[in-house]
Amino acid sequence: MEKQRQAILLADAESFYASVEITHNPSLRGKPVAVCGDPALRHGLVLAASKEAKAYGVKTGQPAWECRRLCPGVIFVRPHMNRYLESALEMTRIFEQFTDRVVPYSIDEHFLDLSGCERLWGTPHEAARRILRQVWDETGIRCRIGLGENPLQAKMACDRFAKKRVDGFFELNSTNYAAHVWSLPIGNLFGVGPRMKDHFNRMAVRTIGDLARLPREIPTRRWGVNGLLLWLNAHGIDYSTLQPGTLAPQKGVGHCATLPRDYASRQEIEAVLLELTEEACFRARTLGKMGTTVHVYCRGADFDHPSGFSRQKKLPEPASAATEVYPVAQQLFRRHWDGRPVRAVGLNLSGLTDRRCYQLSLFNHREITNSLSAAMDEIRERFGPTALFRAASLTSGGQLFTRANMIGGHEK
Ligand SMILES: [Mg+2]
Repeated sequence: MEKQRQAILLADAESFYASVEITHNPSLRGKPVAVCGDPALRHGLVLAASKEAKAYGVKTGQPAWECRRLCPGVIFVRPHMNRYLESALEMTRIFEQFTDRVVPYSIDEHFLDLSGCERLWGTPHEAARRILRQVWDETGIRCRIGLGENPLQAKMACDRFAKKRVDGFFELNSTNYAAHVWSLPIGNLFGVGPRMKDHFNRMAVRTIGDLARLPREIPTRRWGVNGLLLWLNAHGIDYSTLQPGTLAPQKGVGHCATLPRDYASRQEIEAVLLELTEEACFRARTLGKMGTTVHVYCRGADFDHPSGFSRQKKLPEPASAATEVYPVAQQLFRRHWDGRPVRAVGLNLSGLTDRRCYQLSLFNHREITNSLSAAMDEIRERFGPTALFRAASLTSGGQLFTRANMIGGHEK
């Protein structure tokens, strides 16, 4: 079946967190800025850098000290997650003025389907220029746009070309794809990570073109569907269509907490685990959901001897009250923790189901736990997350009061 030619755009914000910080403090514009957590709390990694800082070799993920060594004049700015979420929503709203088919792909990337919009906005290239201008005028953030006939081409156009161009725009299509893309190293292909790159290099596949020229049976036999998908990517073929609202469904609720120091005692770690359980359950309840599976994650403190575990267990029944979820989380932790100091703890509640449908049971008091949770939620909504808490949060391990000032592990 001949598929109708699509016009897919991927819009990506340049140095997103750093750009947002600059819009809040214009005196930073034109200066080397790095958004970075607090080194004392071990969040001291660069989360984003302005293009002036990048010119010195500063990169996302670098520790603060390395950033300072490369760029002694760097200005460190603490992250403000709520500002980034706000700006991301603002960008979504602008994109939605151009098409109703907007799919957020990451916090600073959106896919837009402009197929059939030519009479409204002109050619996709013209539409892209308008979008770039409007985002800049209204938010002070510079975007780059890749245009393609499918999401893969748009993503490759943006990541590999538009980001390097002054006008911030590039188009790939089935006619020019090979000419532009095949000479790039295989690691530049969407879907190829460092491990896959090593596999390919060992097969003497060094460029994207090398993979494209292989018979498709070779990657398919070796890696199954994934191998075939990469081969198709090398040819610029992607059969997916954008489905607003279906991408990125809420998979689960939960957080991971990096601890301010290594925790070695069971009580301390369990205090954090309990707080994370409360938090995840609260999130689930606000969404009107219950979880069916709890996942506990622990990372050891010793870099040279990586330890820790990541295990999940089905709950006896779907639940959204910490009193029901925590015993299972604690059981997982006690069974799998090797007793070594811990650097980070995470908890996730997944398999979310509608909270209004549950199995009535003779053996528990669901109505009572539900109304207890509802009362707790009301208090926290009115008076803040620290208005009501468990006594464990006052013990030495408790992280509630630190975390209450953070979103997604970063400061508000
Ligand atoms: Mg970006």
